[in-house]
Formats: sequence, structure tokens, C-alpha cells
Amino acid sequence: PREPEPVGGPTPAVLADGTEIELLANVASMSHVTRARELGAQGIGLLRTELLIQSEGLLTGDAAPSREVQRVCYERAFAEMPGAKFLVRLFDAGSDKPLPFLGVRGEMNPALGVRGVRALLAREQILRDQLEALAEAERNSGAELWVSVPMLSTPVELHRVREIADEAGVRRLGSMLETPAGALTAQDFLADSAFISIGTNDLVQHTIAIDRTNADLHPLQLHDHPAVLAMIQHIQEVSDEAGVPVSVCGESARNPELAILLVGLGIRSLSMAPSALAKVREQLTGLRLEDAEAAAQRALGTLANFL
Ligand code: PEP
Ligand code: MG
Repeated sequence: PREPEPVGGPTPAVLADGTEIELLANVASMSHVTRARELGAQGIGLLRTELLIQSEGLLTGDAAPSREVQRVCYERAFAEMPGAKFLVRLFDAGSDKPLPFLGVRGEMNPALGVRGVRALLAREQILRDQLEALAEAERNSGAELWVSVPMLSTPVELHRVREIADEAGVRRLGSMLETPAGALTAQDFLADSAFISIGTNDLVQHTIAIDRTNADLHPLQLHDHPAVLAMIQHIQEVSDEAGVPVSVCGESARNPELAILLVGLGIRSLSMAPSALAKVREQLTGLRLEDAEAAAQRALGTLANFL
């Protein structure tokens, strides 16, 4: 397919009533950040650090990259979009994203295993090094750093990361909510969260109980399943009440039809692959909020779409 044309500067989507929808980019390499800037992203809504360091060739053997190696890498990424918001996710090791230095061998069910925040808390020095590298890179670069914690299932995990993040000088720590447990108890994460980032890829996997890596099950990867939408709505409502900003960074946001549903559920910030920005911006521009809300209510209320 033809690559979308560059646009002039950061550009939100503007609904018919003037409501702005923030459009951010999901990135996993330096070239993605460049692309995001060229395509008018207003910032980075998910920097997958586990993939960035791999794409930069910074993994040697089984060792974790040092704090200094990471700092230089993050500063280079931040320099691609000077002064922009960067929502950077802590290393998210998992069965779909194996990291030798955070890996646990011999698990029977690695998708439900020692992954995400669980792997980080099992190796606190690696967690501390990454938080310190990020805080220093922010100070040196003038980026607006937001740091997210992946695969949370209880606020106790977040609280421990928060203690270390405070010591490391990270000022904006937030929760990635991507498990049903995290979504349904979202209110319990707010006290320690400067923001909430919803990961719909894992939320779909864990809610519908389908392996996201199994191509045979793709027809069941229903990003508009009412159970998934209801959890997104719940997260949005409780966060909004507490004044905590929410964004959606899973792949749902890149599908223009789903983006409309997300806006209808109250979401005002979407992060997606850079290549999807133009289509989603076009689809949302001029959209009537009441139409989006009606579509979201229909989608929440029926299974008919999938039967
Ligand atoms: C998600 O789970 O929706 C997400 C954004 O992160 P990843 O796809 O890297 O797990
Ligand atoms: Mg995830």
C-alpha cells in the first residue's frame, strides 16, 4: 500500500462541535518516531522500550542494557520529536515479547506467567536502572516524559513501582490497564497514577481468552466485544471523575470504526501505528459526538454484531 503523505506539524482530529481528539503514535524504533513526527502525531502514546532496544542492537547476550546505554538511546528517541510528550512503557517482557534478561524459563503457560510488571518486580535493579535512565534522559532533553507500567493486575504492584520511580526522579508514572482485573478495579490504581493507558491488545486477549499470537483465532479477536467495550467505558468513567487522563494505545485505536466507538465511550486520546494516523484523523474529523455516542451505546448493548 502507498505510504500516507506527510502533514505539516502535530495535528489532532477535530469533531463537529470542536472537541479535539489527541492523536499519538505507537513506536518501537527510531524510524517509527521520525515517521510519527512526519505524519502529524501530537506525541508518542506508546514507546515499546523492549522493542526499541532490540531494534537499536543494544542487547548483548543475556545482559540487561546498562543505565547509561539506555539513557543515550532514550535521548536519541526524544530528540526526534523535540519537547513532545513521550509515553514510555517500562520493559514489557512476555511470551510474545521475550527478553533474555527478564526471561523466566520453563513456564507451562507463559502468557499468564512472570511477565510485564511481575518480571520487573522480580528484578528490581533492572527496573531501577530503567527508571533512572528515563528520568535523566527527560532532564537532558526537555521531553515531556510519561512512564507506564505494563500488565498490572493489582494496585500493590503499581505502588511498589511508584516507590522506586519516586526515588529515581520519575514525575509522571501511570498504569497500563490491560487485564480484566486491572480494568474492573481501575479506581484502585488512580491514587498512584498520573494517567491511565489502556492496552486493548492484551485486554482483548485476556477478556475473550484468545491467544493473540494464534492466527487461527484472529476471527475471535473482537476488539468491539461488549465485554471489552464495557471495561473501557468503566476505566474512562472512573478516571474522568478523578481527573486522571486516559488514552487508548492498543491496536483498537488504529481501526477507524473502532476509533469512533472509543470516542463515543468518552476517550479523547488515541495512540496508534504511525501509518494509521491519517485514516483515523480523516474519519474522526467533523464527526458528530452524539453519533459516536449512539454507536458506542449500540455496540455496548448487543452481541448481534458478531453472531
Ligand atoms: C496492548 O496490550 O494493547 C499494548 C498496547 O501493548 P502490547 O501490544 O505491546 O502488548
Ligand atoms: Mg500489552
